[in-house]
Amino acid sequence: MSIDALDFLGVDRLLTDEERMIRDTVRKFVGDRVMPGIEKWFEAGEFPNEIATEIGELGLLGMHLEGYGCAGTNAVSYGLACLELEAGDTGFRSFVSVQGSLAMFPIYTYGSEEQKDEWLPRMATGEAIGCFGLTEPDRGSDPSNMRTNAKRAGSDWVLNGNKMWITNGGIADVALVWAQTDDGVRGFLVPRGTKGFATRDIHRKLSLRASVTSELILDDVHLPEDAVLPGVKGMKGPLSCLSEARFGIIFGAMGAARACYESALEYSKTREQFGKPIGAFQLTQAKLVNMLLELEKGTLLALHLGRMKDSGSITPQHVSFGKLNNVREALAIAREARTILGANGITLEYPVIRHANNLESVLTYEGTSEIHTLILGETITGLKAFS
Ligand SMILES: Cc1cc2nc3c(=O)[nH]c(=O)nc-3n(C[C@H](O)[C@H](O)[C@H](O)COP(=O)(O)OP(=O)(O)OC[C@H]3O[C@@H](n4cnc5c(N)ncnc54)[C@H](O)[C@@H]3O)c2cc1C
Repeated sequence: MSIDALDFLGVDRLLTDEERMIRDTVRKFVGDRVMPGIEKWFEAGEFPNEIATEIGELGLLGMHLEGYGCAGTNAVSYGLACLELEAGDTGFRSFVSVQGSLAMFPIYTYGSEEQKDEWLPRMATGEAIGCFGLTEPDRGSDPSNMRTNAKRAGSDWVLNGNKMWITNGGIADVALVWAQTDDGVRGFLVPRGTKGFATRDIHRKLSLRASVTSELILDDVHLPEDAVLPGVKGMKGPLSCLSEARFGIIFGAMGAARACYESALEYSKTREQFGKPIGAFQLTQAKLVNMLLELEKGTLLALHLGRMKDSGSITPQHVSFGKLNNVREALAIAREARTILGANGITLEYPVIRHANNLESVLTYEGTSEIHTLILGETITGLKAFS
């Protein structure tokens, strides 16, 4: 049996026909719609909004949710879609993660029937875009001490505060804003255009350039009683959403890593120095083999955690394990791939430096590597080391 350098362990055979079909559909979409434009979008620092409805048509928005126009796939299929999207660019995977896991999932899980009916069908098609506002300028890893607050004014709510680094913020039709109340942290749906609510896009990013990242400004924003998500109070709300999105990253990071490995492997076979392909040098082979080992192990880990999620046995700590490992290894693969491409590796002509730069954001968002290390450290020792 011949061995495929891009699927060394035959992970493909561990997938069901339906999972393979979804994976192939997303891979084709990325090839047809993302790859031709990504260098331009990344360079210009823009996300092509018009693609949102095409992604919706493919059934990728809120794809692991049931009803309300959502596809209702299993977790592994959602993961595979994230992997293929991120093999294109992290910006596209981030768009889908935020829409499905951080905006639609909480409305689906904690929203009223009216909130679900109002938002989910349009979000599933990509006609309405959502964002998730948790981080603040001075509260990143420690969101439980957030300053954004919601106070009662008769039956209304009044929100004040600032949210920072919010993916999709500037293009969102609805922002899910987490705010401190007398009753603990609650989630509020803030539609675009609400008086006192404004967004400001963050520019000059050198990472995740094909993605909108914004500040949300809430200045005496009056919202009706029914703007709050009724089904959750406290940090469980935002943390449960983050667990969903982090799950997608476990797969997604391996997509970025695969693209870098593939690019370096190809380059090593065609680039010649000292009269032979650089892939014929032992040092280059060692780099490629080390990349292959981590890529295959990370992909198997993602699939294993996906199967655990589908069987209901995954915990947030397992998700931390996967996010910490796979993002760390994907970044190492991207950096190693960059060296194989030499000077060409620093240009946008090849995908490697783009992925390496994007992965710097992935290392930080959805819980930094340090925070996931602390979560795992506490899990195995029983001792908290956060503060
Ligand atoms: C491109 C991008 C998109 C994002 N999208 C969103 C979004 O859609 N919604 C949203 O709410 N947020 C979003 N974020 C914010 C992201 O989640 C935060 O940046 C992240 O939580 C870290 O917060 P911080 O940047 O304030 O870093 P800080 O919390 O200030 O941390 C700085 C450093 O200190 C370390 N540190 C902190 N506490 C400890 C500790 N106890 N022990 C050891 N080390 C510690 C951290 O690990 C890190 O290395 C996004 C960020 C980026 C870059």
